[in-house]
Amino acid sequence: MGGRQRHGLDYTPLFKFLLSRVGDDWDAMHAEAIARLDGAEPIFWMVARSEAERKPFVGMGESAYYSGLFVDEANRLQRVDPHLSVVQMEPSCACCTHTFNGVPFTRKYRPPVD
Ligand SMILES: [Zn+2]
Repeated sequence: MGGRQRHGLDYTPLFKFLLSRVGDDWDAMHAEAIARLDGAEPIFWMVARSEAERKPFVGMGESAYYSGLFVDEANRLQRVDPHLSVVQMEPSCACCTHTFNGVPFTRKYRPPVD
């Protein structure tokens, strides 16, 4: 997780596009997404290519998180955990503004107790 931000490139519009197409036919929207990109790879930061890759959420850079997605048996894009929302997300530090699908976290950072 993390470390996927590339210099000068902002994939936020792609991630929002993918989220907006949950439930849609994968082949059609995949072709549409590819047409907007210079490579297919960023699509698969969010969309799992195998069952083992499926995660409820994925981190993009330091503090931006998005729903993990996958393609179901009916060839439709789905969320790995459709019930996960920003209210359940725990920030990993106090200094950054964390977001989930573009929405700022509502929970405050709680330092680990040791
Ligand atoms: Zn921070």
